[in-house]
Amino acid sequence: MAVLIELQKLDLEQDKLRINVDNKIKKVEEDREKLVDLEDSLRSEEQDLEETQSLLSKRENELVEAQNGYKHTEDKLNAATNSRDFATIEQERETFKRTQVSIEEEIRTLKEAISKKEVDIKDHRNAYAALNEENQKMAAEAETEAASIEDKVNALKEKVAELSKKVKPEILKRYNFIRKKRPGLAAVVSASNGTCEGCHMKLQPQVYIRLQRQNSLECCQNCQRILYFDVSEHLSHE
Ligand SMILES: [Zn+2]
Repeated sequence: MAVLIELQKLDLEQDKLRINVDNKIKKVEEDREKLVDLEDSLRSEEQDLEETQSLLSKRENELVEAQNGYKHTEDKLNAATNSRDFATIEQERETFKRTQVSIEEEIRTLKEAISKKEVDIKDHRNAYAALNEENQKMAAEAETEAASIEDKVNALKEKVAELSKKVKPEILKRYNFIRKKRPGLAAVVSASNGTCEGCHMKLQPQVYIRLQRQNSLECCQNCQRILYFDVSEHLSHE
């Protein structure tokens, strides 16, 4: 049983090494997806800005036209010879004036919208750059770590293979079966005071008695993990 516990220690160490790298790789991939989304939304924001800018320049041209029209009617007004012409031209002039005022208002609104969009785009570009930098850094880290744990993992695997030879095949089979079902978790757990330390459930009294005799393989009926009787813990409780 001591060998099995030692074996488990090595296996869990391997799991721990792998988990760090695996988590980093996962984060790198998730962030890459986020970057693609950010890029897409930046592109549509830029397109939107471009459209607003072209609408602004269209309105600015229309404003010049309205201003020219207004000036032109003023000249016509000076040249008018009768009051009927005068009234008609003055009405025309008022129309140009109203158009001018409404375009000016629209231009103000468009300019405000443009400067807001420009600020947003700048913020989003900065956020993109920051995430991109972090992503590249983490990708490099994950690569270095994956390379550095390779040797450690291989060394651990060798030790595991050596220790495995000393464990009874039936026990090893059971152990590997439980490990496969619960990767990263202990497959061998201690029992004390009649309780499985893995799931903290009360064990059947006969299981606990057999376990204390230490000559049979006992598993927890609840979590299926292999049990061992923790003598030191038992003594300290006495
Ligand atoms: Zn249990």
